[in-house]
Amino acid sequence: MVRVRFAPSPTGYLHVGGARTALYNFLFAKKEKGKFVLRIEDTDIERSKREYEERLIDAMKWLSLEWDEFYRQSERLQLYREVAQRLVDEGKAYYVYAYPEEIEKIREELLSQGKPPHYDQEILASFDTPQRRKEYEEKGLHPAIYFKMPDKEYSFNDAVKGEVVFKKGTIGDFAIMRSNGLPTYNFAVVVDDAYMEITHVIRGDDHLSNTLRQLAIYEALGKKPPVFAHVSMILGPDGSKLSKRHGATSVEEFRDRGYLPEALLNYLALLGWSHPEGKEVMTLEEMIENFSLDRLSKNPAIFDPKKLRWINSEHIKMLSNEELLNVAKPYFEKAGYTADDEKLIKILNAIKDRLHELSEIPELADYFFEKPDVDVTFEDNEKQALREIIENLNKIEWIRKDIVKAFSPRKKYKVKSKDFFHKLRVALTGKEQGVELDVLIEILGKEEFKKRVERYIN
Ligand code: GLU
Repeated sequence: MVRVRFAPSPTGYLHVGGARTALYNFLFAKKEKGKFVLRIEDTDIERSKREYEERLIDAMKWLSLEWDEFYRQSERLQLYREVAQRLVDEGKAYYVYAYPEEIEKIREELLSQGKPPHYDQEILASFDTPQRRKEYEEKGLHPAIYFKMPDKEYSFNDAVKGEVVFKKGTIGDFAIMRSNGLPTYNFAVVVDDAYMEITHVIRGDDHLSNTLRQLAIYEALGKKPPVFAHVSMILGPDGSKLSKRHGATSVEEFRDRGYLPEALLNYLALLGWSHPEGKEVMTLEEMIENFSLDRLSKNPAIFDPKKLRWINSEHIKMLSNEELLNVAKPYFEKAGYTADDEKLIKILNAIKDRLHELSEIPELADYFFEKPDVDVTFEDNEKQALREIIENLNKIEWIRKDIVKAFSPRKKYKVKSKDFFHKLRVALTGKEQGVELDVLIEILGKEEFKKRVERYIN
């Protein structure tokens, strides 16, 4: 059975890159009827925060990327210690009693001799003296544990990148347990992926070079590595790695600006994957249905906020009246705009074609709630026509067809339609453009129409 995981470190908000990784894992699990594991990688105690974990989980839930199993690495420390100890017992790893400054010094010396900064047991074992052991014990420190990197070539077949080869001698020995008793990333990730029986690791290609250490650890544990799929990075429009300086990058920011979760997922899916028929606007079900690792792209994708806006507007159009009302209500409320549901639905339908982010609702709909304050000068014949139009409107049933008919006095007073309608729109809304006039008048209602027009004709 397929088992995949999303393994975020709770050191910040959920970035769109992380959300995309989570999505690909989720889609693959659903498509293959497998399991999706959420694993919080919180062993970097300085940078990990519970608050970030909570925000991350909220964002995942908002995106409806629900997981089947949940783990926290900080609750699995015993396992990492046991496995590391086993490697020591088997001679595949060893204790290191050197302080970080000393390790750094070795590195500098190697570099100054023109050698690659690779550690080995011979160099590091020299610190393992009875006196040092005593010192560590007194200070309550654990020796670090270093993994003996075999001197050989490693290679694997990546589902996205193809054959990847790491030449012999690329790296030296490396730490798997720190002196604070916590595992390093490369070690914990392999122990967990192996023990959780993860079959496919889908993650960003910033981890490609880590795969070398991870392959060596799998080998030492006698476990078969999973299939790796390293997904290309998301870049900003200038071609550098997408970051805050390119604008909004967190899932929370897009949520607050009024992106629908299904639209954000749809756009993220397209940043590195494509539908077999090139379809661009998709529901989550369609993405699941069509997802496969062989359609992941080798090339980095450029984050295009305009395209995301467009996809969001397409998903807004797909909502039913009730769904749209539900997601839109908070934005009306925040602006202090109140009306009954029926009227709000009418307004939403009127502005829907121009709505890209739900946070634009107040600026697109303000004139339904606030009388504009503008100067408009109607000619005498236009004023006469308007007076008669108001009289007509008083008599009709308030439906769009009859509203249009009530405007017939235009002809009698030789009113130029284009100018007249333009002025009327400005008088009613304070804006040059917007909703169709008959729709607008219907929603405003008889009384409000009269109130807004009368000041210009008396
Ligand atoms: N905790 C790592 C990260 O957030 C996970 C990397 C991996 O998927 O192996 O980058």
